[in-house]
Amino acid sequence: MEKGDHQIFRNTCPGNCYSACSILSHVKKGKLLKVEGDPNHGYTLGRLCAQGYALTRKDYHRDRLPFPMLQSPRGSGRWSRISWDEALSIIAEKILSLNRSFNNNQSLGLIRGAGNKGFMQKIAEDFFESLGARILSERTGSDARLGTGRLEMPEPENMAKAKHIVIWGVNPAVNGVHQMFFINRARDFSAKLIVIDPVFTPTAAQGDIYIQVKPGTDRLLAMAVAKLLVEEGNIDEDFLLQNTEGWPEYKHYVTEQVSLEEAGRLTGVGTKAIRELARYYS
Ligand code: SF4
Repeated sequence: MEKGDHQIFRNTCPGNCYSACSILSHVKKGKLLKVEGDPNHGYTLGRLCAQGYALTRKDYHRDRLPFPMLQSPRGSGRWSRISWDEALSIIAEKILSLNRSFNNNQSLGLIRGAGNKGFMQKIAEDFFESLGARILSERTGSDARLGTGRLEMPEPENMAKAKHIVIWGVNPAVNGVHQMFFINRARDFSAKLIVIDPVFTPTAAQGDIYIQVKPGTDRLLAMAVAKLLVEEGNIDEDFLLQNTEGWPEYKHYVTEQVSLEEAGRLTGVGTKAIRELARYYS
């Protein structure tokens, strides 16, 4: 889109976080002048985080490497600038030579970063998958798939309709600003915000209930809550059997092996807080 003396492009922020904000990039003669949030993006509603607004500073920072470098011979520490065409040719030739040697692309592997499911990671992953290469590192969400039977999460906007929100070990007031908007919208309609974190974070400061769990004992706290949910019949057993792995063993473990009193002591939160937390989950 033309605007005055420059153009505006609609892009996705390459910040590689799960928000994948839609941005409007203002470009003049090939130079990025500024970025702003896209008001037509349903989740972010035209807002960006500080990192997003700083994209121009990042792109043009003096320490940023704006072209490919080749180290030759490998390990020598002797680097020289090469063109993008040369870099792409070197990579393509390597992929082709592996294919010629093994007659497939199975010897090609991507070690992807752990953590979020950012937009840029998805591009690399799709590229390697399209070649039949192997993704060598664990995908984000494998834990979710094992725990809930699916990778898809609820729409983040739906949090605005929640009655209770449990924020466990994350700090959206600082690093999930778009999510915080929907959390606060739910709170406008009387939703309770429960924050569990060893650190009294800015999100914890906004919570109706703050549970300061001792570092490394979250799993025990979760099992103590699960024990209460099982014992008080506040679970959907059919759903758990159909959608999770190892539910019977887990259920047996939490009911037989987990002591509420011990969990309260070891987590540092006490049994009253565990019961209160279980009440919100039920
Ligand atoms: S939250 Fe920030 S870093 Fe993440 S996609 Fe949006 S603007 Fe980019």
